[in-house]
Amino acid sequence: SDLASKVSSTLRDVPDFPKEGIIFKDITPVLADGMLFREIIEAWRQRYASQNISAIVGIESRGFIFGAALAHALGVGLTLVRKPGKLPYSRIGVDYTLEYGTDRVEMHTDALAPGERVVVVDDLLATGGTCGATVALVQQLGGVVVECAFLVELGFLEGAKRLHGVPHHALTVF
Ligand code: IMP
Repeated sequence: SDLASKVSSTLRDVPDFPKEGIIFKDITPVLADGMLFREIIEAWRQRYASQNISAIVGIESRGFIFGAALAHALGVGLTLVRKPGKLPYSRIGVDYTLEYGTDRVEMHTDALAPGERVVVVDDLLATGGTCGATVALVQQLGGVVVECAFLVELGFLEGAKRLHGVPHHALTVF
């Protein structure tokens, strides 16, 4: 679509970040384009407006930016999924494996009520470890993940397979 091609042509490829051999998709030029940023949020708003969504779950840290804008547009709450040691109150966590080692995401225990219908938002789906752990967190609290939404999916990494069978949607797929 028009929006997909605008997003993909606005993203910036940064070679050898954060380490040699990795080509990082830099989304900051998308944020800098106010009209494009608005179009993205408007497309998502339309997609989810009639889905009985009661909260957006934003993944630290670029998921906070897009998630906050979408929560505002829908008039629903924003729930934060953060790296360990950042959330102040009572929390639950899920560990997930990386290529080398493990990582962890956390959420406040009162962040969602059982049965709440949510959209999980992040900028990019790579191996799916981060978002898969987030889906598990939401489900531990009794929440229902209606969909995981991304700006970018690196399809060749097959991250969608780690999302516990919940649907996902990406504006652009590489
Ligand atoms: P995954 O857990 O392997 O799917 O990695 C996804 C997480 O890492 C997301 O939170 C992304 O923000 C971040 N990430 C991984 N690769 C990139 C990239 O090329 N650009 C921007 N974010 C990335």
